[in-house]
Amino acid sequence: MNEFDLIQGYFNWKLNDASIELGVGDDAAIFNLDPGHQLIMSTDTLVEGIHFFKDASPIDIAYKSLAVNLSDIAAMGGVAKCYTLSLTLPKLDKDWLEQFSTSLKESSERFRVNLIGGDTTRGPLNITISMMGSIEINSAIKRSGASAGDDIYVTGSLGAAALCLKKINEGVKPSESELISLNKPIPRLELGSALRNIASSCIDISDGLEQDLSHILKSSNVGAIIYSDKLPLDNSVSNYVKDSNDWSLPLCGGDDYELCFTAGKSKRKKIKELSEGLKVRVTRIGVINNQKELEIVGYNGPKSSYQHF
Ligand SMILES: [Mg+2]
Repeated sequence: MNEFDLIQGYFNWKLNDASIELGVGDDAAIFNLDPGHQLIMSTDTLVEGIHFFKDASPIDIAYKSLAVNLSDIAAMGGVAKCYTLSLTLPKLDKDWLEQFSTSLKESSERFRVNLIGGDTTRGPLNITISMMGSIEINSAIKRSGASAGDDIYVTGSLGAAALCLKKINEGVKPSESELISLNKPIPRLELGSALRNIASSCIDISDGLEQDLSHILKSSNVGAIIYSDKLPLDNSVSNYVKDSNDWSLPLCGGDDYELCFTAGKSKRKKIKELSEGLKVRVTRIGVINNQKELEIVGYNGPKSSYQHF
């Protein structure tokens, strides 16, 4: 099987978006943006042994590669449209490829995005997706828009993926729901898009709330106070925190892929309506101030969010 056969056999799917003029199979793809819209783009790499375990299922790897990229588009308030895939494989394993491509295709249909091109090479297993989306001109939610007095919110719950990872590393079997938190994060696309013109800033939590919120503070040149007892936790994380008094998992754990956003106090009613309408838990955890630092009430531990290097 050569590269051409690999792409034709596993990655040349029927397009289901009329705005894509040309997908896989030429030197480059072509797609049209609606008038008054901007291209929005993000890329993320998953590396074996760093972002997933050596024996991870190709089904989970494919889903998560797509989900983490979609989460970045969601954090900007964009609508995801299409993506390219660069796949580096140690060998041509047809069974692995079959499972990976089936999962990627199903996930793409679920989130209504199309694969429009990419590249394959041989080497240590590495999956790089570049996601493209569109957004109305000047409506993207940047990290730089927070101002003193804004409320701080997070979606979903925090720490379950980190708890799962901790258990695996300690040789303890994680629960089914913890495994889902780690392997199947849900990109908050609908909410992210609905937060345009409501949220003043937004980021997705990939490296840990403490670090990712700090990116908002730095970009916006503000500080914040958050309350650890207001963090949304599911039962397993809540029990872990009660037993250990260790808040580092929900604060610094990462891999949550929830949104952290800020909004003026006048938006509280609107945000509550969005949360109820879209059935996404949204929790107010603190407030932006002019202090130029992040104060976490109820936490004195190390601020040790995920570091890439
Ligand atoms: Mg991000």
